[in-house]
Amino acid sequence: MPKISVIGGGIIALSTATVAAELGHQIDLRFTADHSCLGKEPEEAFLEQSLKTASGAAAAFWTPFSVGTYRKRWAIESLERYRALAGCEERSKTGIYLGNLNLLFSKEKEAEKSLESELWWTKLPSTWPDKQTGIRVEKLDEPVVVGEHEMPFSVRAVVPVIDMSVYLPYLVRYAQMLNVQFTPSPTTVKPSDIEDKYDGIVLCGGHDSSNVLHKGDDQPVIPLVGHLVAASLSEGSKNRFVDDIILAHSSDVSRPAYIVRTVNHPVVLLGGTVFKTKSPAIENSLPLNDLENQRIIEECSQIAGNLTPIKSATGLQTREGLRPYRSSVRLETCSISDKSKTPFVVNYGHGGAGISLAWGCASSALEMLESTIGLESSSDDMVDPDFIKSMPINDP
Ligand SMILES: Cc1cc2nc3c(=O)[nH]c(=O)nc-3n(C[C@H](O)[C@H](O)[C@H](O)COP(=O)(O)OP(=O)(O)OC[C@H]3O[C@@H](n4cnc5c(N)ncnc54)[C@H](O)[C@@H]3O)c2cc1C
Repeated sequence: MPKISVIGGGIIALSTATVAAELGHQIDLRFTADHSCLGKEPEEAFLEQSLKTASGAAAAFWTPFSVGTYRKRWAIESLERYRALAGCEERSKTGIYLGNLNLLFSKEKEAEKSLESELWWTKLPSTWPDKQTGIRVEKLDEPVVVGEHEMPFSVRAVVPVIDMSVYLPYLVRYAQMLNVQFTPSPTTVKPSDIEDKYDGIVLCGGHDSSNVLHKGDDQPVIPLVGHLVAASLSEGSKNRFVDDIILAHSSDVSRPAYIVRTVNHPVVLLGGTVFKTKSPAIENSLPLNDLENQRIIEECSQIAGNLTPIKSATGLQTREGLRPYRSSVRLETCSISDKSKTPFVVNYGHGGAGISLAWGCASSALEMLESTIGLESSSDDMVDPDFIKSMPINDP
């Protein structure tokens, strides 16, 4: 059985490792862990670390957003996987449910244009709330006001909501059942240091990926800072929040206002920001928080009515993360060094859409690796149940 290492500590690495294990490979998932995690069970350490990454910060919902060029089939495959997960178990176990998405726009033309371009997926019947009418732009009786902008136009769809605080533990448990081995490392894992142990390596290191590539990256990842604030919908108040996700497209693309209902009703996550940062250290963007958090709470309260921010011991309960934006998602074969012969695939730079693309990218990464290894691999072995041979002949 081919032995493959997946490097990374977020949703892209975990999904890639899971798909590889489902296909029958022996998988070692190698990730960086802080000192505080190193003494723990490896899968516990992975979970604790992953909750601190962009993947753990995300709200999240399936909608490719703030992302460079990507393949539609990565998004469609991921959509189908999340839909299946939403249908197979309680949302409290998987963290996934099918939610009503309401996208708000100021101008009808902007909404129409979006349906033709970034919202291409609204043509997929699996996202239609009403099978008769499909998805179209609707004019609201009463416009929603966000900041100083009126938003009278709405596009409604049904998409998976993925509550990462529940889904990441679920997926770690599933990967464990598939015998994925979790291997923490106190330092960054370099493909060149481990290549002789494996038949193939996939690097899924988010915004840190370029740093371990021997030829660097001609389109380096730009980290985009995201902030979320946790709040609860006040019981009994006149809440306008009837949809599971509301996203208002304001004129400032770096400050979309959005609200996502978690599986833990009545907790919602309020967003957000999409700022470029020069520093990959999240701490450096924190002084922005107080002002941004206040703005986020005010705008989301305008949309939804009464919201009560949830407090932690140190202030508001917030989440911060760096979306690894790249002008195009990087999913390709690469070389570890000039001399290396170990098959190597990179899978990173998913921006604000890593969760929306994770499963499709994982399958493509595996296909690339298998064809580079030259395996018609255990995964692509034709399944031959040999059933016809055992069928008795029963001539009349
Ligand atoms: C606030 C916010 C909201 C979001 N909302 C959504 C949403 O609704 N829908 C959606 O689809 N996406 C959303 N995203 C984007 C999504 O979270 C990211 O695209 C995704 O998490 C990227 O996953 P990743 O695994 O590539 O990177 P990360 O989550 O950043 O994980 C990378 C990990 O790999 C580790 N690593 C890197 N290099 C190495 C190495 N060499 N050796 C060992 N370990 C290494 C790092 O330490 C890190 O732990 C959101 C992001 C944020 C911040």
